Amino acid sequence: MRTFAYSRADSVEHAAHQTTPTAAFVAGGTTLLDLVKLDVMRPSELVDINTLPLKNVEWLDDGRLQIGALVTNTDLAHHPEVKQHYPVLSQALLAGASTQLRNMATTAGNVMQRTRCPYYRDPAAACNRREPGSGCDARHGLNRLNAVLGGSDACVAVHPSDMCVAMAAIGATLTLSGPQGEREVAFQDFHRLPGDTPHIEHDLADGELITAITLDPPLAPAGSYYLKLRDRASYEFALASTAAQLSLDGEMIGEARVALGGVGTKPWRCPEAEAALVGQPAEMATFERAADIALGGATPLEHNAFKIPLARQSIIRALREATRLARQGGKQEGLA
Ligand SMILES: Cc1cc2nc3c(=O)[nH]c(=O)nc-3n(C[C@H](O)[C@H](O)[C@H](O)COP(=O)(O)OP(=O)(O)OC[C@H]3O[C@@H](n4cnc5c(N)ncnc54)[C@H](O)[C@@H]3O)c2cc1C
Repeated sequence: MRTFAYSRADSVEHAAHQTTPTAAFVAGGTTLLDLVKLDVMRPSELVDINTLPLKNVEWLDDGRLQIGALVTNTDLAHHPEVKQHYPVLSQALLAGASTQLRNMATTAGNVMQRTRCPYYRDPAAACNRREPGSGCDARHGLNRLNAVLGGSDACVAVHPSDMCVAMAAIGATLTLSGPQGEREVAFQDFHRLPGDTPHIEHDLADGELITAITLDPPLAPAGSYYLKLRDRASYEFALASTAAQLSLDGEMIGEARVALGGVGTKPWRCPEAEAALVGQPAEMATFERAADIALGGATPLEHNAFKIPLARQSIIRALREATRLARQGGKQEGLA
């Protein structure tokens, strides 16, 4: 049995300053405690941050919505401002995990959740992400669930979050607080591609705490849609998912945002596909071309080639739904 110390942070400064490199913050605990029990994560200390005042959702003067790090996935999904102005985020949250998990899971914890690659979660397997230099059993193993975008020789693990796919499409900024003070990081720069260093998963320094995530102003008037395709209809991670948002100018697409889940090593924003949508007619041929562009760089492994047509279909369907909703003036409930 491994022992660890436990402490409760009574302020953000305390959390940021008193944390050693081998300590871990615990929020909802739904990722962390599993990984500790599996002996994948071995923190020397758990710093409980649940009493910190990071549970607000509020509009900033510049039209962005700021979400405290400890807002639960349930509270965020059902928040009236999120349902009205960012329904794609509400849908993505409700497509994830189960009610009980969402009641515990927090916004920052969701951003920081680890891959579900079975080789990462098995300390007997080779995994460069868990144990740098040990190899990657997934590359030539049972890799049906692994990534087709953003992988490297060292790692092909999928980023598992639904919420992060919606945030990637919306655009967001993370506020981090640490021993060196406060700084901001664009959401798309926060998660790292694995490259040769898959164990470095995020742009988060030792002792740094995520205090808030601020969403870019909502697109208006716009339609949006989150489509998640998976092996079973609930309580399952995505094989492929798409968060799509677009605004219409008559029959032409004004602005467009597309991000993918279940296929990439990080929440996968598709800027080239977005560029191929803007100024084009909102019709099937445009959506198909954008989907082909989004997946142009996809590289299948032995068992997951099916993910490429599946993701293509998810992009097309999500864009069609987003268009339909934009034509209705964006009127949509955030509930899945
Ligand atoms: C059975 C199961 C099914 C699931 N299905 C889905 C799914 O379909 N879709 C999906 O998206 N997710 C799914 N999840 C994942 C779930 O969403 C995450 O476990 C959850 O969001 C993590 O949040 P938490 O607050 O519990 O994090 P914790 O477990 O407390 O922490 C997770 C990590 O984040 C770090 N951390 C937490 N807060 C901060 C902070 N403020 N600053 C810096 N670091 C921090 C911790 O140190 C730890 O490393 C599933 C989980 C389980 C167990």
